Amino acid sequence: MLIAPEAGASGEHPIEVGPASQIDPHARSLECPRCGPRLKIAGETARVIAGRVRRIVELECVQCGERREAHFAIVEPLLQ
Ligand SMILES: [Zn+2]
Repeated sequence: MLIAPEAGASGEHPIEVGPASQIDPHARSLECPRCGPRLKIAGETARVIAGRVRRIVELECVQCGERREAHFAIVEPLLQ
């Protein structure tokens, strides 16, 4: 069964957030494709891609053990 691509599932379609503090709550709101909202944060790495900070959050389902990554791009407000 194919699972439709979802925002944040790959580096090409990161979830855009404002301040970095929004990343953890957003990551926890993501759902396991099988079990629903049972994901916990297993790890987190940061990378700079094309001059922008990219946070990659590793999520693990506490029910079935399914692992997935969520990519977040931090969008800094423009300084006036
Ligand atoms: Zn699961």
